Amino acid sequence: MDARFDTDCVIAGGGPAGLMLGLLLARAGVNVTVLEKHADFLRDFRGDTIHPSTQELLGELGLLDAFLARPHADMPRIGISWHGTELTLADFTHLPTRRRVMSFMPQWDFLDLLADAASALPSFRLLRSTRADTLIRDGGRIVGVRATGPEGDVEIRARLVVDASGRDSELRAAAGLTPVGVAAAMDVLWFRLSKAPGESYPFIQAGAGMIITIDRGDFFQIAHVIPAGSWTGSEDDVARMRRRVAAISPRMAGPVADVGPDAVHLLRVRLERLRRWHVDGMLCIGDAAHAMSPAGGVGINLAIQDAVATARILGPILRDRMPTTRDLRRVQRRREWPMRVTQAVQRALQRPLLATTDAATGLPLPLRVVRDHPRLTRITGRFIGLGARPEHLA
Ligand SMILES: Cc1cc2nc3c(=O)[nH]c(=O)nc-3n(C[C@H](O)[C@H](O)[C@H](O)COP(=O)(O)OP(=O)(O)OC[C@H]3O[C@@H](n4cnc5c(N)ncnc54)[C@H](O)[C@@H]3O)c2cc1C
Repeated sequence: MDARFDTDCVIAGGGPAGLMLGLLLARAGVNVTVLEKHADFLRDFRGDTIHPSTQELLGELGLLDAFLARPHADMPRIGISWHGTELTLADFTHLPTRRRVMSFMPQWDFLDLLADAASALPSFRLLRSTRADTLIRDGGRIVGVRATGPEGDVEIRARLVVDASGRDSELRAAAGLTPVGVAAAMDVLWFRLSKAPGESYPFIQAGAGMIITIDRGDFFQIAHVIPAGSWTGSEDDVARMRRRVAAISPRMAGPVADVGPDAVHLLRVRLERLRRWHVDGMLCIGDAAHAMSPAGGVGINLAIQDAVATARILGPILRDRMPTTRDLRRVQRRREWPMRVTQAVQRALQRPLLATTDAATGLPLPLRVVRDHPRLTRITGRFIGLGARPEHLA
């Protein structure tokens, strides 16, 4: 690899936002390089949800068949089991999209799909095992990044640097951008549970706390919501967690007894956003601009929608010239409102997600509302499935 090269756009981060943007820009004839610090996408702690709006975009890109050929599970409605009472929270079956389901696909498969499609385009380059370390400046403008790859240091100069490196981005800090936090009241415990042949659990089990179960074929991936800061990883914490899980889901009592402290991972939830998503020469998108909570499982969707808007607004510009601050501001203007609405909803959901309710007290109010007004689940289905402002290709 050249130790120094020029391109139109360099993207730090090969997550959903970075790879989708790389693919779309390359399709538009923009020379684009994506830097991903890992060698592959085989990481466990990422959401698995591919929303109807993302599947619609895949259809627009001609990638839907390739997507459906990969292992996935479809969910036409999001259901909840509250102390054994089954209810629907969101219904996707009335959406105006070609796929009226939320699909679950391990994120590594989804990112492989995007990377494979992009790598077929001559103007796309993905540098794996390559970490973007620092920004290159010329006067007041950011004009590239210095990165470390398998063959040593590399300097990439570009008309635009896009930071899509997620919620722990160091580049945005180097650019002087600091996120402001919206209170995050919960954390998530993430662990695998053994699966007996043919066994299944409701997607969401609630009552004495909350568990979300993702069926990954030969095991269950469990997300258990706990109050923020309440987990130290001690034996006592693990014992408490096992008791809580057994109370929420008595059938899980046996398998969760085998989950040891080392098998439980704490995922800290953050709800944050940048006031300004850009500086001269650099734009932040996805979690780098706005870290999302897992509530509603919409972070991937928002990251992808940011990428689509960015490609649509900046693609034609990047072929010809450096984007101005005004051009970058147009992306933030387009995407800030849906992000704010979504974070407001996620914030409002924190208390209900953490609530412990007794079967004897009857259904909590929000669940009574969806039980008594089932058409409301079409609205929640629209919000979760499409987002507040769905984006389309040009
Ligand atoms: C516990 C938890 C569960 C969640 N579950 C869901 C869910 O089910 N569904 C959902 O839609 N959302 C979920 N989310 C949110 C979702 O994971 C994020 O919103 C989404 O992944 C953001 O995508 P992104 O591309 O912006 O960033 P990321 O997915 O974080 O991708 C960033 C990429 O950049 C790479 N990178 C980082 N630094 C550098 C660097 N310096 N140089 C090069 N590469 C770098 C990383 O390796 C990574 O691949 C969850 C969040 C949490 C905390």
